[in-house]
Amino acid sequence: MGKAIILRYSEIHLKGNNRNFFESLLIENVKNALSKYAFDFKKTYGRYVISNYDQSQEESIIDKLTKVFGLHSISPAFVVDNDLDKITEAALQLGVTEGTFKVECNRADKTFPMKSFEVAAEIGGRLLSKYHKLVVDIHNPQQIVNIDMRENKKSFVFIKNIPAAGGLPVGCSGKGLLLLSGGIDSPVAGYMMAKRGMKISSIHFHSYPFTSDQAREKVMTLAKELTDYTGKMDVYVVPFTDIQIKIHEECPEEFMITIMRRFMMRISQKIAQKIGAGALITGESLGQVASQTLESINTTNSVATMPVFRPLIGFDKMDIIEISHKIGTYQTSILPYEDCCTVFLPKHPVTKPKLHIIERAEQKLNIDELIEQAIENIELVQL
Ligand code: ATP
Ligand code: MG
Repeated sequence: MGKAIILRYSEIHLKGNNRNFFESLLIENVKNALSKYAFDFKKTYGRYVISNYDQSQEESIIDKLTKVFGLHSISPAFVVDNDLDKITEAALQLGVTEGTFKVECNRADKTFPMKSFEVAAEIGGRLLSKYHKLVVDIHNPQQIVNIDMRENKKSFVFIKNIPAAGGLPVGCSGKGLLLLSGGIDSPVAGYMMAKRGMKISSIHFHSYPFTSDQAREKVMTLAKELTDYTGKMDVYVVPFTDIQIKIHEECPEEFMITIMRRFMMRISQKIAQKIGAGALITGESLGQVASQTLESINTTNSVATMPVFRPLIGFDKMDIIEISHKIGTYQTSILPYEDCCTVFLPKHPVTKPKLHIIERAEQKLNIDELIEQAIENIELVQL
């Protein structure tokens, strides 16, 4: 008996003139996610079918597929001839042995001599006569045995309908540059924009030697974990120490974080422009810390001319943590290595910075030169 994995995508996003663009991206992303495996791929009847794979890898293939944005559900299925005995044989292997159930049949093969409801009744009857603890419940069954009889005289027989990641195929909404720290929030922010179809590159600022190699490795691990969802990712690693020392020397202590943030924005925007990214992405959430009050965000935002996406702006920390558990970044995020922002942490950071006062404080710095130096020493890591 053959096996296959059926992939369904949302028709809504794939309608209209962009259909081919969306579809070819989605297919490319599915194939990239499964690049480690051998399999056949076929587009049939408004869904995709994966077959001829190593059965022992089915679980890990499905796990990879649940992380491909643009797919909505996944069903591993038996593939048999359109024949009642063969279909029964497959249905008996689905593990439906007790509890309530119903059989649903879709008959695209119009040459088959029975109607779909007749097939469903017949297969249901055969299951009932084999397993006496089964009870039919048409309206609210615990289990639904699906039979999909295709035109090519083959049937898919399956029970599972595994929800996939939803969203839009990565790459259909342009490119964004994610400011990736080692914290909980920014990986989640990257995940959320990738879900809306953005191709993601990341930028990370580090304060070596004030921060350790482990702190840097932690960020690389986070980025790597995100690639399950985003596909391949470029990470730009920016040396930030010299800039921090200069700010520390020249500017009032309480403005440290605000001014640092403005530098991060300026540098990120330059890199974004260089790599063709149309937006910056941060993990900010309104009011979470001093640097995320409306005034702080305004002051930081004012050096950016491109859109800054903050998908977590209205989220509670608990909600963000829940997503980070779901996507598998939480355990890495809570590793106790410090971030560059903790190195020169002022005792009393300003919570409501005034733009003109910050701008005046920055006049002591040679902003362009500092930015240029940092950009010259950027390191690119390709994951
Ligand atoms: P996170 O959990 O993402 O670190 P946070 O709650 O610690 O966020 P902040 O430290 O105020 O918040 O950082 C706000 C945002 O600024 C981060 O979500 C991230 O997008 C960006 N950011 C902070 N530090 C860095 C860094 N070292 N490199 C790149 N981006 C950073
Ligand atoms: Mg942080």
